[in-house]
Amino acid sequence: MSFEERVYNFSAGPSMLPLEVLEQAAREMTNCNGSGMSVMEMSHRSADFKAIIETAEKDLREILNIPDNYKVLFLQGGGHMQFAMVPANLMSNSKKADYIVTGSWAKKAAKEAKKFGDAKVVASSEDKTFTYIPKVSKEDFREDADYVYICANNTIYGSKFPEYPETGDIPLVGDFSSCILSEEVDVSKFGIIWAGAQKNIGPAGVTIVIIREDLIGFAPESTPSMMDYKIMADNDSMYNTPPTYGIYIAGLTFQWIKRQGGVKALYEKNVKKAQMLYDYIDSSKLYTAPVAKEDRSLMNVVFVTGDEAMDKKFVAEAKAQGLVNLGGHRSIGGMRASIYNAMPIEGVEALIEFMKKFEAENVK
Ligand SMILES: *Cc1c(COP(=O)(O)O)cnc(C)c1O
Repeated sequence: MSFEERVYNFSAGPSMLPLEVLEQAAREMTNCNGSGMSVMEMSHRSADFKAIIETAEKDLREILNIPDNYKVLFLQGGGHMQFAMVPANLMSNSKKADYIVTGSWAKKAAKEAKKFGDAKVVASSEDKTFTYIPKVSKEDFREDADYVYICANNTIYGSKFPEYPETGDIPLVGDFSSCILSEEVDVSKFGIIWAGAQKNIGPAGVTIVIIREDLIGFAPESTPSMMDYKIMADNDSMYNTPPTYGIYIAGLTFQWIKRQGGVKALYEKNVKKAQMLYDYIDSSKLYTAPVAKEDRSLMNVVFVTGDEAMDKKFVAEAKAQGLVNLGGHRSIGGMRASIYNAMPIEGVEALIEFMKKFEAENVK
């Protein structure tokens, strides 16, 4: 199937980007900012690219209110690299780390961390197929743990932490891949916030790591240079060639966010979009959302009809209407509408209209 126009793309990632960002990139594709060349063709050591990466960092610091004692790194290797890089760098004292497992990504992160030390799952919601966020308190963590790890928003199961756990002096590490910049966050509550860019920022290939400075510099000698936060920080993310084009697009997205009124304004819009969709699902006879109400994600709305064949029919018919990528993750099936920052309210309205029509046609 092909489309003449752009579709409403509900993909969980890589996902929809703001049209303004894509159009600006298109205009600048062959000649960026009077340089006479594409960003793809620029030396990463050039003044032109230096301005791009520095502006991107400055804008990110501004929109996320990142304190001065945090470094911002633009790395490669995606989320999976951070699953290893976090323990490689932070399991430096007791070599103990406590993981809260609320979905597949946190589970995978905990498994990877076991290669480096004593990674313990202190709470999990796997008993109910990750449809809720377990309540934890400070007493649940080992006092000498090097860090506590969470996945802030569970892209596959459609849940999010309604509030972040209190860990006292133990650094809290958060995977924010699918919710970064969707709502305001107190960065100072975290030791590390990291996020792959391909959900809410830009193309795959860039991973943003926001790390408190006092946590840098403890990777053992044997750590590969590319996995040592200190080497990356000391070299301003340019130890080797960074993912230049991805950083450029991320920078354009940060500027777009500023034009939208910042993260707070986007959050208000995100609440509205998610609320509309969950309200309709809760009122319908055909669809149900399995996640506990207080833990529902604003970014990834998971729902089912309870009939696998009906789910498949839904996804196929929606696609024919230009509402694409509504199938749930291959591990759980059903439906998932990812409604990141770039999804306009009109896209959610169009989805709800389609859902109503589909319900009317299929519920007797
Ligand atoms: C997509 C995703 C990942 C995996 O990212 P990769 O870049 O594919 O390694 C990890 N965590 C979360 C929350 C995600 O949404």
